[in-house]
Amino acid sequence: MISASPPPHPSTSWKFLFVVCLLLASIFPIQIVPSAERNRPGANGQINGKQGQVLWVNVPISQPQAKVSGVFLKRKIPFFPNGDNQYAGMVGIDMEDPPGMQELSITVHSDSGSDHLSYSVLIIKEDYTVQRLTLPKNTVDLDAKTLKRVQQEKKELTEAFHHIGAHPLWDGPFLEPVNGRVTGVFGSRRVINGQPRNPHSGEDIAAPKGTPVQAINKGIVVKTVDHFFSGKGVVLDHGVGLFSMYFHLSEIDVTTGQTIQKGEALGKVGATGRATGPHLHWGIHLNGSRINPYALTALPISN
Ligand SMILES: [Zn+2]
Repeated sequence: MISASPPPHPSTSWKFLFVVCLLLASIFPIQIVPSAERNRPGANGQINGKQGQVLWVNVPISQPQAKVSGVFLKRKIPFFPNGDNQYAGMVGIDMEDPPGMQELSITVHSDSGSDHLSYSVLIIKEDYTVQRLTLPKNTVDLDAKTLKRVQQEKKELTEAFHHIGAHPLWDGPFLEPVNGRVTGVFGSRRVINGQPRNPHSGEDIAAPKGTPVQAINKGIVVKTVDHFFSGKGVVLDHGVGLFSMYFHLSEIDVTTGQTIQKGEALGKVGATGRATGPHLHWGIHLNGSRINPYALTALPISN
């Protein structure tokens, strides 16, 4: 949530997103659109994904009344109808998920019972940068009162993510929320005043104060905040466990409960909260995982 000297522009590695049509009961062939070589399933059907990425998973169904659910690293993955005879789900690989092999478990429920399917996902370590910052001591070594405030604000934010809408609200591809200089700090390990701190869970885009910030897609304003670290912010619920966050705003132009269209302004870039200069902190929460926001804009979602 802090702007700092710019590390190199984010590598294109996060673009390694892919659509996987999963083999279902040995009937449907695996299909991948689009893909990168390292993300192709291996001969044994193994799927590779880097920390901070999203796996878009299509599951064919043979009965119209079937329902699909999934679990990855104990996180529930909601699936939703996606065209005829198909469900889709988005599996987030958290920026700190442990590298190595993990199981993606998918269950197809139908009148004739439940089919349990298991897939191997190889989580690949992302090469995050290190962000060294010097900040006023009282914004780093918090007094008891501020610490209590910060903990309460963190709890409130976590609670906002509990609502899992049954249907996607988004409409076509995802947008960048603001035009500016992308600092590439997603996932960076932060050393503040010489002390190791939590990694940076979103992306920072530097832009002049007052630049309009747009909704990356259609959603409902689930929360507006004025937090110690994040400053003024907006949280949008896009359905099926997908939330976008916009922090350090100078101004909030929406209210809780409001439906907002893709591209509609929700506030203005600022430097509220703990920020060293005007920028947007853009974060994404997907079913319990913190993913690179640019993983969403790269998803092959058609209009
Ligand atoms: Zn940030």
